Amino acid sequence: MMPPVSMNTALFLDIDGTLLDLARTPDRVKVPAELLRALERIAHELQGALAFVSGRSLESIDKLFAPFKPAAIGAHGGEIRGLDGAVARTAPLSDAVRNVFTGLAEHVPGLLLEDKACALALHYRLAPEARPVLEAAMEKHARLFEAEKIHILHGKAVIEARPLGIDKGSAVIKLARQKPFAGRAVLFGGDDTTDLDVFRILPKLGGRGFSVGKHFPGAEHVFDTPRAVRQWLVRLAKDGVAEAGAR
Ligand SMILES: [Mg+2]
Repeated sequence: MMPPVSMNTALFLDIDGTLLDLARTPDRVKVPAELLRALERIAHELQGALAFVSGRSLESIDKLFAPFKPAAIGAHGGEIRGLDGAVARTAPLSDAVRNVFTGLAEHVPGLLLEDKACALALHYRLAPEARPVLEAAMEKHARLFEAEKIHILHGKAVIEARPLGIDKGSAVIKLARQKPFAGRAVLFGGDDTTDLDVFRILPKLGGRGFSVGKHFPGAEHVFDTPRAVRQWLVRLAKDGVAEAGAR
């Protein structure tokens, strides 16, 4: 059963693969007008307690959802923006790490490098055959990454470098302490391995979660597709959130 959304809910939502269908490249995804309206409406009803939790940069999130600009966690926690607009940013990655990623992007055809300053992502959706090469390269530079305290993550057709300790889970904990999220019942939805960091901390927050496409440990509901998530949100916006206290 899908946990209910009440006026006392803090809603944290992953974007790609949860709200939006994955596209061939990250900048080709589209936000349906109906979804945008629903999110604006729900955020309003929750008094701003709706936040995106994404691997995208805040800049990329804002571009997608303009003019809607809610609280958001970008770059898997490398950027945290409160509802007041204040952004906490993690320091940029070193040149040594950056060079590994730019080198690969230059030499392996079909790769797309996404530079989020505090994180780097190599997308290989257009070149799935590049995966073994990329994995070998990560292996080869494992010492460098270790010395630089960099964590390498393997997502859906993407390899990402990010500082240790920066993840969606710790970012949700930080944002959940801020107004207007503090004191509310956390509800999180995600679809990918990086979302597991949030599912891991949900019990600590007394929060609940849903996943998309597959079951995650701790998920109380599984939506088959992002489309089903959108339909749920559109219905929620139409019906209005439940009175506070409804669980
Ligand atoms: Mg996702």
